[in-house]
This record gives sequence, C-alpha cells and structure tokens, in this order.
Amino acid sequence: MTGAVLVLNAGSSSIKFALFDGTGTDVPGSGDPAEVCRGRVEGLGEQPRFRAQDECGTPVEARDLAPGEASSHAAALDVILEFLARRHADARIAVVGHRVVHGGAAHSRSVIVDTAMRAELALLEPLAPLHQPHNLAGIDAARAAFPDAPQVACFDTAFHRTHPWVNDTFALPRALYDEGIRRYGFHGLSYDYISSRLRQTHPTLASGRVVVAHLGNGASMCAIKDGRSVGSSMGFTALDGLPMGTRCGQLDPGVLLYLMSAKGMDAPALTDLLYNRSGLKGLSGISADMRVLEASEEPHAAQAIDYFVYRVRREIGAMAATVAGIDALVFTGGIGENSALIRARICENMDWLGLSVDAARNAANEADISAPGSRCRVLVIRTNEEVVIARHSLHVAGVSSAAT
Ligand code: ADP
Repeated sequence: MTGAVLVLNAGSSSIKFALFDGTGTDVPGSGDPAEVCRGRVEGLGEQPRFRAQDECGTPVEARDLAPGEASSHAAALDVILEFLARRHADARIAVVGHRVVHGGAAHSRSVIVDTAMRAELALLEPLAPLHQPHNLAGIDAARAAFPDAPQVACFDTAFHRTHPWVNDTFALPRALYDEGIRRYGFHGLSYDYISSRLRQTHPTLASGRVVVAHLGNGASMCAIKDGRSVGSSMGFTALDGLPMGTRCGQLDPGVLLYLMSAKGMDAPALTDLLYNRSGLKGLSGISADMRVLEASEEPHAAQAIDYFVYRVRREIGAMAATVAGIDALVFTGGIGENSALIRARICENMDWLGLSVDAARNAANEADISAPGSRCRVLVIRTNEEVVIARHSLHVAGVSSAAT
C-alpha cells in the first residue's frame, strides 16, 4: 500500500492512531481515504495498554504493556509502529497527520510542520497547556520515526476562523483581543466531519442552518450556516460553554476572583479545579461518565444530568438565535451518539423551535430521529475526526490519492 496516511492524536496520557489507504475510499464520491485500522496506547507512564481494531471495527489486539514500554510519546509510537509493521507490512507512510488543538488566530487551514512552524505552534502552549505540548510531542516522535514524510498539523480551532467578529471577541480592552485573547472555538475537526458528511447525505440541509451538539467527555456546540462555522460554545480555551465530564463549562469570572482572593487559590490549583474536578464529576461527586450517572439512583447524579441537559437546551436557544432558526440539529460524540435518554430530554418541549423527536426512532438510535412533521430534522451522526485529518493531510502534503 503506497500513499498511506498515519493519523496521530497525542494527548496527555494516550496516543490514538488510525491508518488510512490514500489510494482507496470507503465512501465513493466523498474524497475520503479508506480506513485500514485504528487503535490507541493509553495509560502512558502508568499502566499502559494497547488496543487496535480493523477496518470493520473488530478488535484485533488488546494487551497490557510494561510501564517502561510506553513511558513517553516516542515509546508509545514505537508500540504502534511495531503493530503496523507486523499487520500492515506493505503500508508505506507518505504523510503523517496530527490533531493539534490550537492553531491560533492565523491558521484557518491545516499546515505542514517544519522547524519554523513547530516553533510557532509551541508559542501557543500557554493557551492550551493540557493539550498542545502533548500534540507537539507526538509530532516530534513521528518526525524522528518518519524523517522523510511530511508532518501535517490539523487544528481544532481552524474550522471556526469564519466566526464573525462579535463571536470572536470578549468585551475586554481592545489590546487584549489584539494579543490573542479571543474566542477560538474547538472540536473543529468533528464539526468539519459532520458538515462534510451532511453535504453527502443531506445536501439541502448542509447549505442551511445547522446546529451540531458534540457531546462527549469534552462537549461543545456549533452553529453552522452554509457549511461555515458562525458560532461555537467554546471560547478562549476548551473550558467554556457546556459542562463536560470533568470541566466546568461557562462560569462567572467573578467566581475565580473570589477563589483567588478569599481562598488563596493560584493558577495551578484553579487549573486542576476547572479542568479535572468540575463538570459531571464535580456536580455528582460520583463519576464523569454519563453511563454511570444514568445508571445511578443517587440524587446528585440526577442533578448533574439535569444541569447538563439544561445547559445544552439553553445553548440550542442561543445557537438558534445566532442563525435565526434551525433546519437541522445533529447529535454527535459519545453521549450524543449513544444516549437516547439525554437526546430525548434535550429535545423535550422544543416545539417552539419546530423541533420534535420520534421516541421509537430515538430509542433505536436511528440516524434520523425526527418526529413526522418536525420542521427541524434531528440527526445522529457518528463523528470521525481521524478521517478529516487524513483528508487534510493528503491535500496539504500534495500526496496524490485515487480518492481525491
Ligand atoms: P471524548 O470526548 O473523550 O472523545 P467520547 O466522545 O468517547 O469522549 O464520549 C465519552 C462520553 O460518552 C462518556 O461520558 C460516556 O459515558 C458517554 N457514553 C458513551 N456511550 C454511552 C451510552 N450508551 N449512554 C450514555 N453515555 C454514553
């Protein structure tokens, strides 16, 4: 297999990977390369574990690793490369695509990472301290492993660079905006996928007003008009907007001032509070995992779900106002794709928006869960950020592909 694309998503404690065949496609006419396999090394530096599945999603390998075997991103990449060499010895990696959370204000497209670009992206580390350094460590490891293959950075912020100014700014002194204190928006690779998928399956809707709810461990919403992002719930960092597994979502900044002055909390303590100890986990005191909360009979679990649902409903109203009505609401992400209960509760009494869900279709996790007569279509689409990275990487690197 020539023209293979290796996609890497390096996080703080894991590296996810996917291999694509740039000369084939899974969806004719989509321009997307064909998936060969995907998997992850997780528990980096602690109790590392490797899992992989084939192109049909069938697990092909799952094993515990010795702690030293995946003590760094480079070591974890070695584990992935050993797997690929064993199972896909014919794959010639032509380009490596990386998920990079922050591309700053300048990048509305994916870019090839050379030494100068590596340095530019490192300057953005303070804006995404929990993600950017790991993303760059993944690039370093891949560059060492594939010195001849272009490394392409695909940004979670890029899709949102079409935001109008009012959605790009905070009401702070102008100079701070000029310094880069802006609403960047995140989950852009997922929104890019949903948008392109809609163009294939529902072209008329795709050119209309679409609100996407990406509800996973991280959660955000995006208003898309004619395929372009015009508003999103995440802002300067991936903390803003909806409550998440362990992140707080929208917060009165006065709370931070109070915690600093009355409780003496400093930046590291606040970072830990807002990123790791808040959201569903903080509210319930039980778990960040929606499945656990749904199964729990504890009142605090129910309240955490109530708050989550309330904030998503509120955000749908805000997004609808941004694009003056909604033609389609799309659910995606682990919760959006799988939880019929949460979808039903979010869509309860939304007739005022012309939106209603068919209970049986929703319970069956169908792709179109709109009730007959619902003016707004309600869809469930499984996201695929990896294929977007592969698509962009082939394009940016100029690697010829039968699929494009
Ligand atoms: P990430 O943002 O880390 O990619 P995912 O998109 O995989 O996360 O979403 C993880 C979330 O999805 C977890 O809260 C998990 O409980 C939830 N989830 C997955 N399957 C279900 C389900 N069947 N019912 C309810 N929640 C689910």
